[in-house]
Amino acid sequence: PIVVGSTGGTKQSKLMAEAHNHMPQGVAENYRYWGDEATVFVSKSKGCVLTDVDGKEFTDFRLGYGPIILGYCDERVDRAVCDEITNRGVISGFSTALDAEVIKQVKRLCPQIEKMRFANSGTEAVMGAVRTARGFTGRTKVAIVEGGFHGLQDEVMWKANLEGWNMRSDTTPEVIPFGAGQRPNTAVCCNPTGLTLLSLNNFQMLDEYFHQYGHLTAAVMIEPIIGNAGSIAATKEWLQHLRDLCTKHGTMLIFDEVKCGFRVAKGGAQELYGIYADLTTYAKAMGNGYPVACFGGRKDVMDVIGSFKGGVVHGGTFTANMIAISAAHATLDILESTDALATCDRVGTDIMAVLGRVFDAHNVQHTFSGPPAMFGIHFAKDVPQNYRDWRKEEYELYGKFAWNLIKYGVMLEPDSREPWFICEAHQTMDLQWLEDVAMRSMTEACAA
Ligand code: PMP
Repeated sequence: PIVVGSTGGTKQSKLMAEAHNHMPQGVAENYRYWGDEATVFVSKSKGCVLTDVDGKEFTDFRLGYGPIILGYCDERVDRAVCDEITNRGVISGFSTALDAEVIKQVKRLCPQIEKMRFANSGTEAVMGAVRTARGFTGRTKVAIVEGGFHGLQDEVMWKANLEGWNMRSDTTPEVIPFGAGQRPNTAVCCNPTGLTLLSLNNFQMLDEYFHQYGHLTAAVMIEPIIGNAGSIAATKEWLQHLRDLCTKHGTMLIFDEVKCGFRVAKGGAQELYGIYADLTTYAKAMGNGYPVACFGGRKDVMDVIGSFKGGVVHGGTFTANMIAISAAHATLDILESTDALATCDRVGTDIMAVLGRVFDAHNVQHTFSGPPAMFGIHFAKDVPQNYRDWRKEEYELYGKFAWNLIKYGVMLEPDSREPWFICEAHQTMDLQWLEDVAMRSMTEACAA
């Protein structure tokens, strides 16, 4: 789709043409490419507002794939980072006193964490957690859930192929790699060492899987609220059943809280459910946009990591660098000691009310899913129970609505699988403006 009047301006066109000479598809990473005319080049981000290179402003609910929890350019965090790196340096390859301080903060907020290690991205945190689970259990097989996303390492980049899948049948969708070049033998289901995809909230599938493969399975890894499938959430009963099966079979339960951690509640999804994983990954909101991540959990499990014989390897030049550590320290301090997350919840609830009025006014059947700081919109009667259900809803109308919003200065991912992310800085936005713009966007989408 072409977004006339938002991007596609003079400077954007020039930069896009130039960028094609230097980067595949003209972008620094795949997910930024929205087509030659719609790819956004940002010149500034502040609070909840992005400004593109042609001077157009957007109120942003995409928030850089979700790490912004306070706001862009938050002075409290930026000042702490600048102070640390200009006065004490970025990196030495040695420990600092601040490492354990940040872990103590995480442990106060997330009581299931007993020991922790740092990483540079969600991808790396997942890699560390899965390797640790294998090291602890001595098993190989891993299961994940359809619609989830766990970063960019080969072995977890497999998905349910819903293209052409007969949604009215009870068949299982084909499992396919995200793209070319992946090591092929990391999947698939029936392989005792391969990856299996389960369907969220499906008791029978879970029981059958554990019956057959439980004793071979190192870990089941899941986003309890799938931040990569419209914030579809596990039911408490299903999640508890998964917890019980993992305990019974000696399988590590990994919650990938890269998106929901330090966002949906101070203690993440585990606080909301009261169900706790053996290992957890955190990233995004942990540093308000600075690149910091971690994985941790049970002490006996984490203690398999180390440079002793038979230990699980974990390391990296940039691990726990002081940009990451000081950003996490400042961000977690704010999240712990202020009402920032309560503000996000309140604003998210208000925004859902605004959007609900807009959909009602157009007789568009809809439901919301997930917590207010990371909510999904579904043009369907009921909240989908899993990714296969998501396929059945009206996501084409959502796409049209979203592209119109972008045209009128509301930034979001035009794909309904990506939730609306709320940050503390959204509290200053004009809800009446949003309602007007959303009305216009929906009227045009329905007419198109
Ligand atoms: N896990 C989840 C749940 C994610 O949403 C993402 C990224 N969107 C990742 C892992 C990978 O994180 P990163 O992009 O920081 O590598």
